[in-house]
Amino acid sequence: MSQALSFAPKLGGQRLQVKILEPAKGGGVSVRRGAVVEVTSRRLVIAWAGWPALSATEQAERDKQTVERREYQAKYEREFVADPSRMMPDAYDRMYARTVRSIEDLHDWPIPSPHFLWRADRRALVDAALPVLKGLPVDLVRDLLAAASLDTETSPPSDRAEGTVGAVLEPMVELLSDTMNWSRHGSLANRVPDDVWATSSQFVDACVAAVDGQGGHVQLPASPQFEDSTFPGPGWLRVSYGRTSGRRIHAPDCHVLKSQQSHPVDAPTWPAWRLNLPGSDPCGNCGGPTPAATPALLGFLTAAVVWQHRSGKAVEQWQLRSCLTMLADAARSRAIEVEPDRDWVNHVVTALLSDRPGDSWDAYKAMSPFSHEYEQLNDTQQMDALRLTCSRLILLDKALPASRRPNDHLQPVEDIAGDSRMRRETVRSWYSARRSACIEALPDFDLLLFTLPDAVKW
Ligand SMILES: [Zn+2]
Repeated sequence: MSQALSFAPKLGGQRLQVKILEPAKGGGVSVRRGAVVEVTSRRLVIAWAGWPALSATEQAERDKQTVERREYQAKYEREFVADPSRMMPDAYDRMYARTVRSIEDLHDWPIPSPHFLWRADRRALVDAALPVLKGLPVDLVRDLLAAASLDTETSPPSDRAEGTVGAVLEPMVELLSDTMNWSRHGSLANRVPDDVWATSSQFVDACVAAVDGQGGHVQLPASPQFEDSTFPGPGWLRVSYGRTSGRRIHAPDCHVLKSQQSHPVDAPTWPAWRLNLPGSDPCGNCGGPTPAATPALLGFLTAAVVWQHRSGKAVEQWQLRSCLTMLADAARSRAIEVEPDRDWVNHVVTALLSDRPGDSWDAYKAMSPFSHEYEQLNDTQQMDALRLTCSRLILLDKALPASRRPNDHLQPVEDIAGDSRMRRETVRSWYSARRSACIEALPDFDLLLFTLPDAVKW
């Protein structure tokens, strides 16, 4: 507080002397009480009478700025709230790359507790979540974690209303939790819904088309075409599996694999098309091999689900990155198992599936070690059965690499000489040699070679 000693209100911009009555606190400048100092007056251009109106206008302007600042702050803060009832944003790509890189990027969002971490503190949860979420857009991670905070019993319906983050991303939550487990314990994502897999196939096509549109090219790994696919996802995805002494195949974490020697995370992988081999024999307990729950798979499927939610409109950069990362991950798995882009198994499966014979039970019976079923066929049926087997073996030989072709000099031919019994023995020797050359890699050799309607495996 000060008292003016000399005063010229209408002119302004002048020097005037003031006496300090009460020094202001703080501010860094210390002026003692009673001091006389010289200050510059403001440039006053209006009369005293105009002051109230001017002051009111200035105050209104200041109030408006305060409201705007608060609104902006609220909007900014809302960006950092994990809210399942938020409507899905139109885009996750921003003007600048904002992807999860460090613990700070996970803010205070709720992180699901995987089974093994159910009592863990937040730090342990973040440690498990960070490698899984790294590289995904920060806003997407916020929404994924919001969906993960949904509670089946207590969450209000608005948290799952159509078009909300909760409704769209909830199918990803279990995979997120499994992936956090995978990094330590190797649990598998065997509960991803079929329609998510189907979407992922269409999403890959959209990514390939998007790159094509920019003059680029994406080469997808080869996988045979199946007429009746049991796995609607892309066939080149890697699945992991475990084996028992028989031919039944399991997921690596299946409890049937009691004498499991390797860590589930080290389980061997297959391309997913192997799941589609006719007559594959998965374990009834675990459902058989399943795609490995990896960070790449989580990003890939989430990108596909978001893409589909937007009715397959443009593919964003982060979505393209997720797709290419999945391809790279599959390529890495192939490299570990020294598997080329296209191996002989793929060649053989493609060849045998491209031209399926009709019902070939007779041919299958003719190749049985026991001859009584063959002998019950009439002459024409016997001849047809042997001819069909020969034509299939010829087709197989064309697809087999020389190193895999049986070393006998007798190559199958369609016209077989000799009596009925001799003919069967000849064809059976060709068949047996090829079967033993292939059975290790193709446990369902017979189901590929022949068409056996209603075949039941034991
Ligand atoms: Zn099993």
